Amino acid sequence: MDTMWLFKYFDQNGSMKRWSMVPVILMLMIGVYALVYQTGGIQFVYSHSMYIPILLSGLVFGSAGGIISGLIGGIILGPFMPLNIETGEMQESIQWLYRTGFFVLIGLFSGVASDAARSYVMKLKWISLHETSTGLPNRIALINEIKKLSMKNNPAGCSHLLIALSLENKIELKAALGFGVIEEAFLQLSRRFSDQNKGNQIFYTDTAQLVILATIYSSKAENFLHEISTISKEPILHNDIRIHVDTRMGYVVFDHISEEPETYLQKAEAALTAAYKQELDSVSYTSDILSETKENLSMLGELKSALSEGQLSLYYQPKIVIATGEVHGAEALLRWHHPERGEILPDVFIPRAEQSTLINLLTEFSLVQAIEQIKRWQEKGIHMPVAVNISPQNLAMPGFGKMVLQYLNHYGISSNMLELEITERGLMLDIERAIGELNQLVDEQLIISIDDFGTGHSSLQYLHRLPVSLIKIDQSFILKLPNDKGAVNIVEAAVTLAHKMGIKVLAEGIENKQIYDYLIKIGCDLAQGFLFSRPLPAEEFERWLIEYKRKTKEKS
Ligand code: C2E
Ligand code: MG
Ligand code: MG
Repeated sequence: MDTMWLFKYFDQNGSMKRWSMVPVILMLMIGVYALVYQTGGIQFVYSHSMYIPILLSGLVFGSAGGIISGLIGGIILGPFMPLNIETGEMQESIQWLYRTGFFVLIGLFSGVASDAARSYVMKLKWISLHETSTGLPNRIALINEIKKLSMKNNPAGCSHLLIALSLENKIELKAALGFGVIEEAFLQLSRRFSDQNKGNQIFYTDTAQLVILATIYSSKAENFLHEISTISKEPILHNDIRIHVDTRMGYVVFDHISEEPETYLQKAEAALTAAYKQELDSVSYTSDILSETKENLSMLGELKSALSEGQLSLYYQPKIVIATGEVHGAEALLRWHHPERGEILPDVFIPRAEQSTLINLLTEFSLVQAIEQIKRWQEKGIHMPVAVNISPQNLAMPGFGKMVLQYLNHYGISSNMLELEITERGLMLDIERAIGELNQLVDEQLIISIDDFGTGHSSLQYLHRLPVSLIKIDQSFILKLPNDKGAVNIVEAAVTLAHKMGIKVLAEGIENKQIYDYLIKIGCDLAQGFLFSRPLPAEEFERWLIEYKRKTKEKS
């Protein structure tokens, strides 16, 4: 028979329930006394019924309960119970003492067994509520605590705060010092948070996430968050060495529980994801964040099937040589033709894909499509180098360069027909690694250009180390030309500097003749923009090319 439920029952309902068993056990003992008395005395077999309350007592109260009830049972059926009721003959002392000894022994055994089972249940319960290696309460424990909040009255002027805090440099820490350092970091952080405010409850909810649950005066919430953020960034001690930890927070503030407890954790985690995306230290939950996260997930799910169902294709936009007016090449730009949402532009789905490994599949798709197109054009006698946009995540992918070369090789396309565009922001994420990876590709004659130049930070200081042959000045500057003084200064400085380093300059986003004329004047090398053509499907691009060549011939 499974008696676990009994232990669970008493564990979960505490000592109140346990003490409520005392009258039951006493009634049973009195019942046994009455039964033995009514059936003629202790000489008959009914005295064995006393084992029932003794076993029950051991089960409920453990070994101490078993021993005490054994003693009580022995005494009840001892000096107060005759051997034979009819004759009134009393039992000898040795008889009831011997029986009492047995009762105590049985009580002790049942108690010990019950104690062992109870401690086993307690252990199981502890394991279910804790992260075992650190001993910190886990996600289930947190949900239970949030549930408990709904049963309490919130002190006046107070709010609940649920903060999800992640260790941003976990990969670096793990790689350099092993997984133990992550646990060590979380243990030290949780001690700091407990010391900061005794009411803080700390939970280890994920391999790299701590959650703090606190009830504080609403007016002090801002200070509180600031303190948590500050102390979370202080170095931790690992084997007597001070180690830098980089943390980020997402949090939600609420006054009472009106939704499922899990929802609050979900909100704090959604805010943490938003903090990560926006590269902020901490972000407070808003309803937009959750709908954005849901939209992200559903879009990523759809994007994966879009790839296999042929909903994605490349459009091509020409790049023009300013000096001669010739077409220099084309940039391949992804388009998603969604069966219900219509055309989705890359600005909507690329940043989302970049937060998942899906970006690797997308880039591979663009690369293959572009190389196939180069081949198709070559077969038609069109010599058209194509530029493909790559994301920073691609450069970090082991074997990315090799994969590009393998595809070129497979289709028999020479590497100088393919250009890779990488955004300035992407390069700056891990400049040393990017330089290494790009050098390998340049060694194989691939052309590398920096996209959206001017939007990242301080890549100017690295420009001389980057193996690039082209910079593409971001359209946000070009669109403001020629009247915006700031844009003029940046564009002119970029052209001068790049030329000094032997790097060509392309201006993207040229929408009108005025901008184009200005770019001719300052000696920009290449031009791209709606003035020449919008991005077009391959066949339309071919028609545009024929028409463009005809017009330029007419002019000359
Ligand atoms: P980008 O590489 O800087 O591409 C230039 C963007 O400017 C394109 O937007 C293009 O349509 C747009 N554009 C070109 N000329 C003009 C103009 O005269 N005026 C204006 N207002 N816009 C112009 P699109 O196609 O929406 O692409 C946006 C971004 O998405 C691209 O910026 C690129 O960073 C990314 N992207 C596109 N395709 C891919 C891809 O296959 N892989 C990756 N990783 N990123 C891609
Ligand atoms: Mg580009
Ligand atoms: Mg660009």
